[in-house]
Amino acid sequence: MSQSRGEPVNLTAADRERFGTAICRTATCHIWLGSVSRPGGYGQWWLRRPDGRQRVVSAHRVAFEVAHGPLPEGATLMHDCEVRLCVNTGPGHVHAGTQAENVDQAVRRQRMAGPRPGLVDVRGPVGQAAAVQTAIREALTQGRSDPDQLAEVLAEVIAVGDPLANQLRLL
Ligand SMILES: [Zn+2]
Repeated sequence: MSQSRGEPVNLTAADRERFGTAICRTATCHIWLGSVSRPGGYGQWWLRRPDGRQRVVSAHRVAFEVAHGPLPEGATLMHDCEVRLCVNTGPGHVHAGTQAENVDQAVRRQRMAGPRPGLVDVRGPVGQAAAVQTAIREALTQGRSDPDQLAEVLAEVIAVGDPLANQLRLL
């Protein structure tokens, strides 16, 4: 679940540029490489207010508002891709859902139903985020910057934490 309220995010051109440098765009998810919230495991970003004070905002919220404008009243951002560090606001990733939709999705996950049953990373949200960022950074260091290659790296590191992976191996 994500925060749904709060003042809109107003970014200067310099803010947008700084925000963009913390994102790695794979062919699927766009991975946030900056700071990670605890215990949520979401990307977080410090934004300087006009009065000079700083506020922390979730990275996917900033990405959403940059792409689509202010979050509608009562809406909650949801990760359809289940990757909490993802800031891709295209179809299948981050979308603005109603609070009811958000609760419904959480309930379905607990009941082990839906398209990706019971998919809760065994490393926990913060552990998954750390593993994802490490894998992506390593790939970039090795010069594997092609979006398709990076998407493969991401899929592999996500699969490591899949609670069903060991069961599948036993079958
Ligand atoms: Zn995604």
